[in-house]
Amino acid sequence: MQVYTHPACLAHATGPGHAERPERLRAVLNALEAAHPDLDWQQAPRASRGQLLRAHDERLLAAVLESDPQDLLQLDPDTVLSPHSAEAALHAAGAGVAAVDAVLAGRTRRAFCAVRPPGHHATADAAMGFCLFNNIAVAARHAVDRHGLERVAIVDFDVHHGNGTQAIFEHEPRVLYASSHQWPLYPESGARSETGCGNVFNAPLPKGSGGEAFRAAWREELLPAVDAFKPQLLLVSAGFDGHRRDPLAGLLLESADFAWLTRELAALADRHADGRLVSMLEGGYDLEALAECSVAHVDILRL
Ligand SMILES: [Zn+2]
Repeated sequence: MQVYTHPACLAHATGPGHAERPERLRAVLNALEAAHPDLDWQQAPRASRGQLLRAHDERLLAAVLESDPQDLLQLDPDTVLSPHSAEAALHAAGAGVAAVDAVLAGRTRRAFCAVRPPGHHATADAAMGFCLFNNIAVAARHAVDRHGLERVAIVDFDVHHGNGTQAIFEHEPRVLYASSHQWPLYPESGARSETGCGNVFNAPLPKGSGGEAFRAAWREELLPAVDAFKPQLLLVSAGFDGHRRDPLAGLLLESADFAWLTRELAALADRHADGRLVSMLEGGYDLEALAECSVAHVDILRL
């Protein structure tokens, strides 16, 4: 497997007390380096305007790339732009594009993109929920539009619903979106009744749900839907904020639950997609839990 990151992703400052802080990525990188000194690290390139415009409109590109903030600029109550944010956002989105190119060219079977800002809340025209560009959506669009894939699945186990990803693809039958998330919780979307054009599968979990409910949702609802779709490429929005220690949500997952799902997803990719799987970091706000879960995730992906 390959691991994509870029120093620019550490330079995206969000201000004092903000949960989505550079220390998150530093914790992930340190833990991965310590656990696996032999990882195949790759420098994430910038996404191009053309690649971003497949998922976003000009208005969002202008807001992120041309604002030139001198200090902290609030794009919404949670989402901050600072002098190095545009560069971080370009490399975070570019990581997914490069990883898709690598797995489709057969240079590697699996990739993990250790990047920030996260992406799955960003819609076609708006940054929100700590997300500037929708990294996983840019990657999926690249796979469909540039590589001509007919079936790309995005699975999202972040504790929050990926409203942006769902909205970008709800009329796109070549992309399936499957998500488990705490509900109700920010951003409040993700009810089971939201099914897109038959390509969206939501499994909301009540606050306090633990590994048993999480695994049942994937085993009984979400994984069968993805399996039936027979994806040619599996993309993963890997958020670890469902961990019991996470300060932003109320699920009670353990790193073993994320490892279990990672194993299931790798097997699914092996069945349908020649093993091709690209995972991108989303949330996770307890540094210790985030580091432990990232290592558990990569432990499986590198096998
Ligand atoms: Zn989240």
